[in-house]
Amino acid sequence: MEYRNLPNSDCMVSTIGIGSGSLRESGPREIEKIVSYGMENGINLIDTVMSDNKAAEPIALALKGRREEMVMQIHLGAVYPGGTYTRVRPFSKLKEGFENELKKYGTDYADIGLIHYVDDVSDFEAIMSGGIFDYALRLKEEGTIRHLGFSSHSPEISRLFIETGEIDVFMFSLNAAYDFEPSGGRLVLSRERAELYRECEKQGVGITVMKPYCGGQLLNEKTSPLYHRMTIPQCIRYALDRPAVLSCLPGIRSMKDLEEALGYYSASDGDCDYSFIGGLPHRDVHGICIYCGHCQPCPAGIDIASVNKYLDLAKSGDELAVDHYMTLNKNAEDCTGCGSCEKNCPFQVEVRERMKEACELFSTVKTGNWKAQSTGIF
Ligand code: SF4
Ligand code: SF4
Repeated sequence: MEYRNLPNSDCMVSTIGIGSGSLRESGPREIEKIVSYGMENGINLIDTVMSDNKAAEPIALALKGRREEMVMQIHLGAVYPGGTYTRVRPFSKLKEGFENELKKYGTDYADIGLIHYVDDVSDFEAIMSGGIFDYALRLKEEGTIRHLGFSSHSPEISRLFIETGEIDVFMFSLNAAYDFEPSGGRLVLSRERAELYRECEKQGVGITVMKPYCGGQLLNEKTSPLYHRMTIPQCIRYALDRPAVLSCLPGIRSMKDLEEALGYYSASDGDCDYSFIGGLPHRDVHGICIYCGHCQPCPAGIDIASVNKYLDLAKSGDELAVDHYMTLNKNAEDCTGCGSCEKNCPFQVEVRERMKEACELFSTVKTGNWKAQSTGIF
């Protein structure tokens, strides 16, 4: 295991951490085992945002009596009314939600406290003027938050936060698909993003990475925004090579996912080499779902990230995705077209169109025409 230093302290974090967003795909006992196994293998960083509340209790059980061994990244503004992830802003709800998060994990502090998912300027300004930032600063002063930060998908917002001079660390969506852009007929590193990383390094602000595999899309030739498959060691090495990056937190669904991530440490330099990226053509990542769940809650009760994921898997030829889709309590057929998800999505996904596409594709299963019709689709 490798460790890097959290800015402004002597705390070290493992260069691979656990993203909890998809842990619910395992059962409670398995989740507890995954977290314990990660810790036995040196992982000491976990992010606690998840698409529903199911993994919280098993995580808390795994950390019982071992809280000091884990650096917990807990968000201000991610709450779970009725068990489902929701982003909140009214100060009173955000405060109550953060206090509940601490209680849930049987702790009275967050090693890293992040103001959750800030992607536009009006939201940033409301956070600064509406008491949320002051509250976060007070929490840090009294020791309830030990390192202060935010989570974002936006370089512009990240810069605004960093300019306050109060930020120790932030969580940022970072991978080769987001970082590279076309220029002169080839892919080059986005100047805006490269400058952000360098500025963070200069100012001693750390980055923890979400979406290092682009929601799994980079791992599959058919779904990769680069039109080229990257391996897990390549994705992790890519993220860890960026200036200021401390740790990479892939979404872990199962023990297998964790073992594959840990496999990075035994991969050779050749296995981690990602230098081929510079010669690749580019596909616009605008509108591609990466299953982050930020579009929740859906008034119709649809788990939008799961519908999108099973749709993409089915389109890339994974027939098991059909079974998974069929086990969802609510699915694309329940979509009312209200559009609230599209306002919340940071990646401009046309969710309503995706729901229509899912209805069409999966309806072939119900009518018994799956094989006949799927041949063309896959
Ligand atoms: S639709 Fe957007 S917000 Fe929802 S899971 Fe996909 S990328 Fe995330
Ligand atoms: S448009 Fe459909 S999927 Fe999106 S929030 Fe409304 S009901 Fe849910």
